[in-house]
Amino acid sequence: MQSKDVSPHGFLPSFQHFATQAIHEGQEPEQWNSRAVVPPISMSTTFKQGAPGQHSGFEYSRSGNPTRNCLEKAVAALDGAKYSLAFASGLAATMTITHLLKAGDQIICMDDVYGGTNRYFRQVASEFGLKISFVDCSKTKFLEAAITPETKLVWIETPTNPNLKMVDIAACARTVHKHGDIILVVDNTFMSAYFQRPLALGADICMYSATKYMNGHSDVVMGLVSVNSESLHSRLRFLQNSVGAVPSPFDCYLFNRGLKTLQVRMQRHFENGMAVAQFLESNPLVEKVVYPGLPSHPQHELAKRQCTGCPGMVTFYIKGALQHAETFLKNLKLFTLAESLGGYESLAELPAIMTHASVPKSHRDALGISDTLIRLSVGLEDKEDLLEDLNQALKAAHRPNAN
Ligand SMILES: *Cc1c(COP(=O)(O)O)cnc(C)c1O
Repeated sequence: MQSKDVSPHGFLPSFQHFATQAIHEGQEPEQWNSRAVVPPISMSTTFKQGAPGQHSGFEYSRSGNPTRNCLEKAVAALDGAKYSLAFASGLAATMTITHLLKAGDQIICMDDVYGGTNRYFRQVASEFGLKISFVDCSKTKFLEAAITPETKLVWIETPTNPNLKMVDIAACARTVHKHGDIILVVDNTFMSAYFQRPLALGADICMYSATKYMNGHSDVVMGLVSVNSESLHSRLRFLQNSVGAVPSPFDCYLFNRGLKTLQVRMQRHFENGMAVAQFLESNPLVEKVVYPGLPSHPQHELAKRQCTGCPGMVTFYIKGALQHAETFLKNLKLFTLAESLGGYESLAELPAIMTHASVPKSHRDALGISDTLIRLSVGLEDKEDLLEDLNQALKAAHRPNAN
């Protein structure tokens, strides 16, 4: 359900009632004896029963916790989903989803996924008898060709990291669902619930590293899974309890608080990200900029058709060589040189040496992750200050004898 306002830069209109649901869904003060407006942090691991086996909704904190419960309801509303489940990290969510499968089943995974997802599938899940194939799912014909009778799960991420390659979720869903009972998972971490609703586009599972934009304050590690199917929900709920990778009540409290401002944060990430992308694209010291919000992005039309906007992730190639990239990064004052993304503070990093160092050089080259590729997570600071910081660091990198 889209609102009538058109988003900036020709993207889809935003989802109706989004900010209202982020603030109120699952937060009813009537659910607490105290009528607390802010959900209390329920640290108790166990809950009193009226008679043996008769409890009032909560028994033991791994299987259900009031603070977790109210954030799961808010997230479900924001994903346009019936159900949402919280996990101890994005990878804990990935692991729990993978437990839907059994030995001999095949997973088709986007070739250009988050490194931790790649490592989990390749070095952990495969040890338990799952078959993993990495495929460029941005081309549906490659996905179609990779599907076998053993395929039980297709895992995509859009946009990818750090190349910001987009995948057509609706096209993937049509391809996957032609073949019967295959579960399509979309890692929606980069877009957040505010810019993209995978379930409405035909995905079966929408997952997040809530550590990034969804929490947005770089102070919680958490994962989320949203679904509409009753049977998937009951199996995942069983697994959430059986595997036990649940978040702490304190982290749930922090996350729920971060979620309240998701809309205003994402709008500003878009505004600042676009300003940075446009600035870099017009700068003679920059080779190339990759940002789905720019008309120069090869999948700009898909981005406008599938999303309500773009986050603050901007990738660019600085002119020169590795030493220019390093001098640039060393000279930044506002952007912090650090991994991770999606917080209120601006970060910059060099994937070839930092987040993607474990990817073999030949594979990095194939993906275009060169020594001059810089990834920015543009935060919520004043736009002018961010542009000024980038400008002075670019000049410093190209000053004669600087390197
Ligand atoms: C960070 C990240 C993950 C892993 O999540 P954690 O919360 O760090 O476990 C998964 N997918 C994407 C796209 C990420 O950026």
